[in-house]
Amino acid sequence: MAYCLQCGHKAEYKIPEDDHNTRLVCPDCGYIYYENPKVICGALVIYEHKVLLCRRAIEPRYGYWTLPAGFMEIGETIAEGAARETVEEADAIAINPHLYCIYDIPDIGQIYVLYLTDLQDGKFGTGIESLECALFSEEDIPWDEIAFEAVKRTLTHYFADRQHWQAHNDFPLHQETIAKDKSIKRY
Ligand SMILES: [Zn+2]
Repeated sequence: MAYCLQCGHKAEYKIPEDDHNTRLVCPDCGYIYYENPKVICGALVIYEHKVLLCRRAIEPRYGYWTLPAGFMEIGETIAEGAARETVEEADAIAINPHLYCIYDIPDIGQIYVLYLTDLQDGKFGTGIESLECALFSEEDIPWDEIAFEAVKRTLTHYFADRQHWQAHNDFPLHQETIAKDKSIKRY
């Protein structure tokens, strides 16, 4: 059961007038709750050709490896959010952000925006949302224990791209849609 965020009355799901999507609507005060996609900001943090990964201490995908990433907060830019997540999850400072991967996941209403960054002074720890953090070279990546499809793709792009480009600023931007069946659409 859902209640109106404005007046607390019992709300109902319906298609409001002049709309085409089902929304949570309050029959008492008329408040309409618009649920829109959320932005997940994160960083692919590189140090001496290695990638910083965090093993999740939270659900979903507890115990699996991921990049520092999480829901963007109001009041910050996407790059600031990526830097904040890197502090929270890896106790590390991500510097020199370069926009690198954007993934639309329409089925679950998420948009990933990931930056390619450097790791300040090569220093990191273990954030409160992580069991452990570590730098991985390409041959050591635990591919079967990666938490999310977006992370898997980003790592794959990075190891391919670095064959062709040296400076992070020269790396191309990858924009893709992740569908339920994981098929890839490139733009
Ligand atoms: Zn209401």
